[in-house]
Amino acid sequence: MSKKPRYHYVCQRCTACCKWEGDVEVEDDEITKIASFLGLKEHEFIQEFTRIRANRSGLALIDKESSTECIMLEGDECRIHDVKPVQCRGFPNVWNFPGWKEECQAVAVPLRGEA
Ligand code: SF4
Ligand code: SF4
Repeated sequence: MSKKPRYHYVCQRCTACCKWEGDVEVEDDEITKIASFLGLKEHEFIQEFTRIRANRSGLALIDKESSTECIMLEGDECRIHDVKPVQCRGFPNVWNFPGWKEECQAVAVPLRGEA
């Protein structure tokens, strides 16, 4: 049986994952970093840019008004790219969902030694 190739998926900034419905979770340490990056006090950032998660387990970024687009998306760039939440950094290599390749334009690059 041949070994299944393994890949790293390289984001193409199609921005689809910044426009899906659902929570973009922010943890306490991420709130500290993002607020600082934006030059805001933590309570100002929380008030202006977050809401309670659907499961009430913490905070999530808000969407733009009348859309499911993340408040931090500017064109095809993330306004907080340098400090974006681990949830954003992890997709699709760390976590994904059945059928994700139909939604995401990331390009598969074979891992070294696996090509
Ligand atoms: S959906 Fe995939 S390619 Fe598009 S921005 Fe997200 S990770 Fe990148
Ligand atoms: S924080 Fe940035 S990367 Fe994450 S969903 Fe929002 S715009 Fe996209």
